[in-house]
Amino acid sequence: MFSHLQPTPIDPILGLMAAYKEDPNPQKVDLGVGVYKDENGHTAVLKCVKEAEALRLKLEDSKTYIGMAGDLSFNSHIEKLAFGPAHQVLLAGRVVTAHTPGGTGALRVAAEFIKKANPDATVWVTNPTWANHVSLFQAAGLKVKEYSYYDWETKGLKFDAMMAELATVPAGDVVLVHACCHNPSGMDLNFAQWQQFAELAKEKGFTPLVDMAYQGFGLGLDEDTQGLRYLADLVPELLLCSSCSKNFGLYRERIGAVSVITADSKTADIARSVLLAVVRSIYSMPPAHGAILVSHILNSAELTALWHQELAEMRNRINNYRQLIIDKFKEQGIAQDFSFITRQHGMFSFLGINKEQIEQLRKDYSIYMVGSSRVSIAGLNHSNIDYFAKAMAEVLK
Ligand code: PLP
Repeated sequence: MFSHLQPTPIDPILGLMAAYKEDPNPQKVDLGVGVYKDENGHTAVLKCVKEAEALRLKLEDSKTYIGMAGDLSFNSHIEKLAFGPAHQVLLAGRVVTAHTPGGTGALRVAAEFIKKANPDATVWVTNPTWANHVSLFQAAGLKVKEYSYYDWETKGLKFDAMMAELATVPAGDVVLVHACCHNPSGMDLNFAQWQQFAELAKEKGFTPLVDMAYQGFGLGLDEDTQGLRYLADLVPELLLCSSCSKNFGLYRERIGAVSVITADSKTADIARSVLLAVVRSIYSMPPAHGAILVSHILNSAELTALWHQELAEMRNRINNYRQLIIDKFKEQGIAQDFSFITRQHGMFSFLGINKEQIEQLRKDYSIYMVGSSRVSIAGLNHSNIDYFAKAMAEVLK
């Protein structure tokens, strides 16, 4: 039966990574992949993670199963990181969390959970969104629709259109919002817009799903959750998918969490049983390593302080480069307005250049970015920023 299989097209970002790898040009620049890189172009293991790994080696005395919800200490930490330690949803016992294989695992478990709660639900995603969102929800048998979000003309948000479209979403549907550092545009809702969104969700009764893959990469650990926390204050039900891939640099360890926020603690108990049954039927239990490391870090005041410092270094480096890009473009005599780059947050930015210009950058300069003109700012460093700005000046002529 396998001979009937048809090839599945490769994810464009993975295709781009492969082309970059094969490119012999020593000046090549990778602005495609969504992974943090330091000034040396390296994705290093954080020092706090190294210390937590040493601690794990010393303390671990068993490899027995950890249970379907995963590491309970990790779950408790991740809830406090997201909502703050004294948020009413935590105090009222309205949050159920399971640690998952990455943020992707969290989204897939959330999708199956939604399917159980309402098999006819449509999941509404931003236009555009992280490409995997659509396939993840469709794979669980859910319908996916887009709502207006990014405005290619103004390089801002189509907020009025977004609100008008979401006003038609019925109760029982799910609206996915990015907590911060929108992937791929870098454009986030401001707090006033979050408030309006939360009011709408409450009024219409749709269920928000907040995807938080970049907590701490935008403005700060607490600042990046302002919208989420306000939303949780207002609406009775909510889903949250978190990831520790970027903010702890634990990408390949596959560590994230899904949290279900219910109207009361009695419903939370039922939601827990459904959530764990979903986990049991997909992978039974999550891998322990990443969760134990995060737990070790957050259980120790010293390691937490070190993590905060390392996270701030990553965040500040990206934010400094947002300004540096604009300065370097000016130095190269680029007249177009790229000031929108400093209004965006997180790892990504849409440059807003066309397909021919993207192709020319790749062919003539070995500069790789996604076809939508999304660039990963962390791919830039002092050795390649001038080369990148010069190449941009050429293709924009
Ligand atoms: N959600 C968004 C918006 C993302 O950009 C990513 C990763 O790039 C994820 C979720 C999932 O991250 P991971 O599965 O690597 O933890």
